[in-house]
Amino acid sequence: MKKNKERKRQGTDEYLLKYELFKSNAFVLINKMIQLCNKTHGSQHLVDEICYSIFFFGQIFDPNGNLNIYPKDIFGDDQTFIEKLSSKYNKPFEYFHSQTSTERPLPRRSPFSCVLDMFVLQNGPEDEIQIRKSLEDLVNELKDMNLNLEKKFLDFKKGEPEENKQCLEFKKDLDKKKQDLDEKKKDLDEKNKDLDEKKQDMEVTKNKLDVKNENLNFEKECLDLEKKNLRLEKEIWKKKDLDLRREKKLELVSTVICVSKYKNSEKHYGVSMSTTSLNAGRIVIAASCLSGYWNKYVADAVMTYYPEQNQKKNEKKKKKDYFDGTFKLPESISCKAYHITKRTEMNPCISCRNLFGLKEWENNLKEWENNYGNCAEAECLSNLLLDVSLEIKPEQHTYNPEDRENARASVETVLKNTLKTVHFKWNGEYYPPQTQRP
Ligand SMILES: [Zn+2]
Repeated sequence: MKKNKERKRQGTDEYLLKYELFKSNAFVLINKMIQLCNKTHGSQHLVDEICYSIFFFGQIFDPNGNLNIYPKDIFGDDQTFIEKLSSKYNKPFEYFHSQTSTERPLPRRSPFSCVLDMFVLQNGPEDEIQIRKSLEDLVNELKDMNLNLEKKFLDFKKGEPEENKQCLEFKKDLDKKKQDLDEKKKDLDEKNKDLDEKKQDMEVTKNKLDVKNENLNFEKECLDLEKKNLRLEKEIWKKKDLDLRREKKLELVSTVICVSKYKNSEKHYGVSMSTTSLNAGRIVIAASCLSGYWNKYVADAVMTYYPEQNQKKNEKKKKKDYFDGTFKLPESISCKAYHITKRTEMNPCISCRNLFGLKEWENNLKEWENNYGNCAEAECLSNLLLDVSLEIKPEQHTYNPEDRENARASVETVLKNTLKTVHFKWNGEYYPPQTQRP
């Protein structure tokens, strides 16, 4: 009973922390975009779009529909700021300022894609180094902010910070081991004493006793070493935990960037989806497919694996049996994905191999737990294929307009049901950024 209560309390804390993180990350991202917009000609539509996308995620933040996040929750009591912002980007505010639930359009993509577009526009598509560096700096800034926020939140809750709790347990464990060692040492001392007495008594066996003493010393050294190892282990454990936490607490932020190029084309980019839940991801992926944001080939490939209505949540993702729009990317297209902050190149995951025939360069059989289409590769290849005219031949014969329509209809049905689950009333349209691209 007590355990259940404890679990419930922890669940609520985790949830409230997620809520705080969402609000502050949303605030920082929108502010950053406004600053960048002032320095980047023709980028207003990106601020407009990120506002809409973030406000949308605020609406579906709570799976039960009890705790919606509105613009005023993100910007606090600063009325002048809200007024200034909402006069410039009036549509997103109009749609989301009221608490009464009205029908609204869906965003075509997740918020961080707008940030990527902003950096590409600011630096020019060929400056890959600067684009990746800008993203890395921003993500690191958010990661550190989130860590601090989490600490403050836990202190505020007056509960024992989780990290401390774990440390305390570790310390307790260590103390116990130390006690054991002390006891062993006492034993050894006594044995030594015995030996000393015996030594006095029996001069004859002196040599034998020396050997024994040596053994005991050796044992002591071993115990010291064990102590040292424990200390080291604790340090490693602490560092690992911190890395994990920095990674885990990201809201609205992508972890991977992808870069692609075809012959003499410009470089094109994409980021992994920055959504707040599996349902949110599913909604945005469907919107990217159906709204025309994604290039036709990419949308068709992703729709091939989009879950069917009767598919169970934990069931392995599978192809539709009536439609196959997957394709093999031509050798002439390069496509590389990198972890934004670690900068390491990422091996294409199973879904990217299934969708676009990307080749793995390291054996990796782990299936991505995210939805198909979540990866940076999808957005990146879509941007490239929208730019270069290249005929892509889907793999299978089951690719004809009728089957395609059936697949689209199936995706839309699942989308509508998912929207019902998260209590979002959709007007059947997709949000067009107000100031169009230059
Ligand atoms: Zn992937």
